[in-house]
Amino acid sequence: MGARGFKKLKARRRAEFKHTTPVIRKDDKVQVIAGDDKGKVGRVLRVLVSRERVVVEGTNMIFRHMKRSQQNPQGGRVEREGTLHISNVLLFCEKCNKGGRVRTEVADGKKTRVCVKCGSKAG
Ligand SMILES: [Zn+2]
Repeated sequence: MGARGFKKLKARRRAEFKHTTPVIRKDDKVQVIAGDDKGKVGRVLRVLVSRERVVVEGTNMIFRHMKRSQQNPQGGRVEREGTLHISNVLLFCEKCNKGGRVRTEVADGKKTRVCVKCGSKAG
């Protein structure tokens, strides 16, 4: 690999780690703000940090074509959640009753997420 290729790789790696701590975490309640499921509210099942994507319960349903297996003797189509880009979901604020941007505040060395709009603690 030449020096240039290495530089490129480093740049890409930097980009990947730009958001090492996503505001969205597993079991958060979030609202989808883009795509077919715009407006839907659901629980975060999985956060794929390196890909900056999340899996939200009941949203972005896709059909997976499964081969017959012991777990799934029928095979065929299985409906399951697809991933969403993390920028397409917002942490749900109970007070505002909708998804909103949050900022992180540090108090006593502990991080809390605060709704930008109403200032209430959001998870
Ligand atoms: Zn709020």
